[in-house]
Amino acid sequence: MAQNNNLKGTVENRNDGVLVYIQGGDKDVQQFKADVESGAPPASGIRSVRITEVSKPDFADFRIVSSKSFSDEITLVSPDIAVCSDCLEDMKRQPGRLNHPFVNCTNCGPRFSIIRSLPYDRSKTTMDVFKMCGDCSEEYENVLDRRFHAQPVACLGCGPRYELITCSRTERNFSKILAELIKILEAGGTVAIKGLGGYFLACDAASQAAVSKLRQLKIRENKPFAVMFADLNAIHEYANTTPTEEQLLLSWKRPIVLIRAERSLAPGVSVGFSTIGAMLPYMPLHYLLFEHTGIKALVLTSGNFSDEPILIDDKTALDTFKESCDAVLTHNRIIHNRVDDSVTMVVGRETSVLRRSRGYVPAPVMVDMNVEGIIATGAELVNCFCVGKGNQALLSQHIGDLKNMETYIFYQESLERFIELFRVDPELYVCDLHPEYLSTKYALTKEKKLLQVQHHHAHIASCMAEHALDEKVIGVAFDGAGLGDDGNIWGGEFLISDFASYTRAVHFDYVPMPGGDMATLNPWRMAVSYLYRIYGIDMVWMDLPFLKKTDPAVLKMVLQMIDQNINTPYTSSVGRLFDAVSALTNVCTVSGFHAEAPMRLESVASGDSEAVYKFVLGKTIVVDTMIKGIVKDLITGVSVQDISLKFHNTIGAIILDVVRSLQSLTGINKVVLSGGTFQNRYLIEHTVKRLRSMDFEVYSHRRVPCNDGGIALGQIAIAAKKRESGQW
Ligand code: ZN
Ligand code: ZN
Ligand code: FE
Repeated sequence: MAQNNNLKGTVENRNDGVLVYIQGGDKDVQQFKADVESGAPPASGIRSVRITEVSKPDFADFRIVSSKSFSDEITLVSPDIAVCSDCLEDMKRQPGRLNHPFVNCTNCGPRFSIIRSLPYDRSKTTMDVFKMCGDCSEEYENVLDRRFHAQPVACLGCGPRYELITCSRTERNFSKILAELIKILEAGGTVAIKGLGGYFLACDAASQAAVSKLRQLKIRENKPFAVMFADLNAIHEYANTTPTEEQLLLSWKRPIVLIRAERSLAPGVSVGFSTIGAMLPYMPLHYLLFEHTGIKALVLTSGNFSDEPILIDDKTALDTFKESCDAVLTHNRIIHNRVDDSVTMVVGRETSVLRRSRGYVPAPVMVDMNVEGIIATGAELVNCFCVGKGNQALLSQHIGDLKNMETYIFYQESLERFIELFRVDPELYVCDLHPEYLSTKYALTKEKKLLQVQHHHAHIASCMAEHALDEKVIGVAFDGAGLGDDGNIWGGEFLISDFASYTRAVHFDYVPMPGGDMATLNPWRMAVSYLYRIYGIDMVWMDLPFLKKTDPAVLKMVLQMIDQNINTPYTSSVGRLFDAVSALTNVCTVSGFHAEAPMRLESVASGDSEAVYKFVLGKTIVVDTMIKGIVKDLITGVSVQDISLKFHNTIGAIILDVVRSLQSLTGINKVVLSGGTFQNRYLIEHTVKRLRSMDFEVYSHRRVPCNDGGIALGQIAIAAKKRESGQW
């Protein structure tokens, strides 16, 4: 840009930013300034531009000067970036890169997944084993080249290579690999493919036979599969997308976007859900694949088993998939940091990140406080941790359910890597209140200062930190479960909260959760709990389809557990209320995966009625009349579509009423919505719209998950504020 504007000077990449000296005519300098701001590379972000006039001797030309020594000040690592359009062009034209499946440049390619340490230099990445050829070196050294200092630069001659392994043989010739891969997929086969941040399982998304085979491979899994479409046109054959959704699908982050399906792919893909987890190609291989086949949509699901992390080790992947898949497509670029695909959705016109991984991590979340040296260990089920560096909260990639051994190993390893990579000197650990969370136990093993934070306070603080809200707010925290101060399981909470403290203003009335975790796995137990509370023992004779499915002996046992208070904690959880209604309406009585029952209940809601059930607001929120209303509707044959919608509207109405009464009590006008329940698109859209129409300032999550994946940000913010005020 400097050269285009006839300017002289230098540019230097420093750890506190980019320093440019510019010498030339006023007009040219102005133009340069405009160019920098408008023409920044897509994956870059300009946080601020500061201009100062200084006197300098005349520069002879414009050049890039080498980076100043590295300090601990600020350390940024780029997330992985989808292949750019220039590189796709090069794949068509540039000798040495024709159909090159590892093409990349300074604007695109692998980053976080291959970085071992800083400063970011080829020798510190898993590209260190590939010796750059003469042609690549020339590009790498040339200031004017798009590959100037592109660390993973490679070509057909010097870069990594793919291998296709089948039972009988190994193919190393890339064009033959491509041809064979396509043959297998077109014939309805399944393939394990090594991607950017892990292994994925792929098959034709239009072939039910192929999808079933893939489902068998991923035993115990009945979650919807993500689908990679060839392009936007291919998506439009199945779904209408909004401009915001398209922007997100096409962004360099290339996340999975949950869109509403108009037409379904093979039934096994979405397993009854009305949405598709859609994404577009992000690796050169994906483009090459679609270019040479009639297949327009591929299932591309993480290569793992139920709750285990996505596989990255080549040997394990080969051992695991060689027999069960028709082929394993691997390559010899090592994945150092595992990053699964990110999951997002568009709410209104805003993006909301539900699983923050590839493309997003490890970009920092900037916060308005000093979080240096604080390590937040997160929650348990959908864990992400967070390490603090200056005013950057460095949230980890999606880790998963820590109760799984492999996942817990991944957690510890990643946490240690983050601390080392970002040169953090841990001073304080902050964790959840729950003594049994492995993340709590982990924090306890560290002989450092420790703070335990209530789960729902952390949820609200997470959303506050994201929006730089340092004041008292009305916090609405709805989720599945979190340990409360009183030892009960919370999850339907209205808090008056700031970072330092909170009061629990109103909550859903406690109901028994017979069997604890067993109640979570069996939503029908929650339905029974609500019915028993309302109708007593008469409930067993009720003419409800879901009851007919339950074993009378087990039902009797469940009622005894409630009566005698055996292994029956009390909960105010809205997640469990969704479970209860999902089971009561016979939509989902047994949960096959986390939050299946609420998700299925949301999925069946339809219509545009604004009707609500009755409920009672007192010291607690009592929904007995709503449950009675639902029972009445079920018996009189009202459709589950209508019942579900009316239930959703009722939860929305409860939020509205409680928030209004809290506002009149406290004068607070800012409402913060957080917790996994707000992944429910209907609920969040409906609630935000209604609250805004009543002039509330409403804040919900955008860049950080509203589910427990966002907890660590709240923990770190609370700890930072307590430290700042000397409370800790
Ligand atoms: Zn590129
Ligand atoms: Zn080369
Ligand atoms: Fe939670």
